[in-house]
Amino acid sequence: MTQTASNKSLAGKTALVTGSTSGIGLAIATALAQAGANLVLNGFGDIDGALKQIEATGVKAVHHPADMTKPDEIEAMIAFANETFGAVDVLVNNAGIQHVATIDEFPTDRWDAIIAINLSSAFHTMRVALPQMRARNWGRVINIASVHGLVGSAGKSAYVAAKHGILGLTKVAALENARTGVTVNAICPGFVLTPLVQKQIDDLAARDSLTPDAARAKLLGDKQPSAQFVTAQQIGDMTVFLCSDAASEMRGSALQIDGGWSAQ
Ligand code: NAD
Repeated sequence: MTQTASNKSLAGKTALVTGSTSGIGLAIATALAQAGANLVLNGFGDIDGALKQIEATGVKAVHHPADMTKPDEIEAMIAFANETFGAVDVLVNNAGIQHVATIDEFPTDRWDAIIAINLSSAFHTMRVALPQMRARNWGRVINIASVHGLVGSAGKSAYVAAKHGILGLTKVAALENARTGVTVNAICPGFVLTPLVQKQIDDLAARDSLTPDAARAKLLGDKQPSAQFVTAQQIGDMTVFLCSDAASEMRGSALQIDGGWSAQ
């Protein structure tokens, strides 16, 4: 969805996207910037590249290095956003990691990290940002869950538990704000070809002695009926839609965008 000067629906607003230096988060930040929002980016890796990509749309962008496992750093990030732009109008809880192993072999430090980054960080951003949104009687929180918020897959206990948890958290936050101009919803993507999924393809190729193409096809074929990846841009466009007036009575929804995965 390319936004022109006349339909910059988020002009004057500020969006904060956790984990926005890569993959889906960077695509969401780009879509929100194309809709006119100033951006607070967060995450590790190629920070300069991410900032340049957002600034190319003509909005202002800053980065905060908060580690999503650390509540005090999350509080500092929201304070930094307020100091820089005066508000957080749109909050996208996107940061996430994955680890694949059966429960009996799952490293406990990976369990703790996945629950902290993929679930608890959204509690910590919301507990600080929601009162400020309510004070202005407008706000949008979009939690990037997963089809794994709705169904399970062997080997992904922590991820599936965190994603089911974030759908519950989304519902509670939506209900607690239902009589205000603040909405809270979740997006549930199927496979999107990002570094997080590329690692699973590489692991599958190594485990089953497959070519990269064959491993990609197997990963998709096992789960996603369309046999196509969802694109990160499609998730960005869905996020912009959830910020629109058309979505103002969507509260506590979990929107699947998964090539038919959860319809099976
Ligand atoms: P990615 O690995 O490309 O990006 C993850 C982002 O999170 C990066 O910016 C990284 O720096 C950041 N991050 C990681 N640990 C962090 C921490 N401790 N503190 C702050 N930032 C941290 O992954 P992605 O595929 O773009 O995933 C983004 C979100 O989408 C995740 O919540 C993931 O569960 C979800 N998701 C992904 C897919 C998929 O197929 N790729 C499908 C469904 C849901």
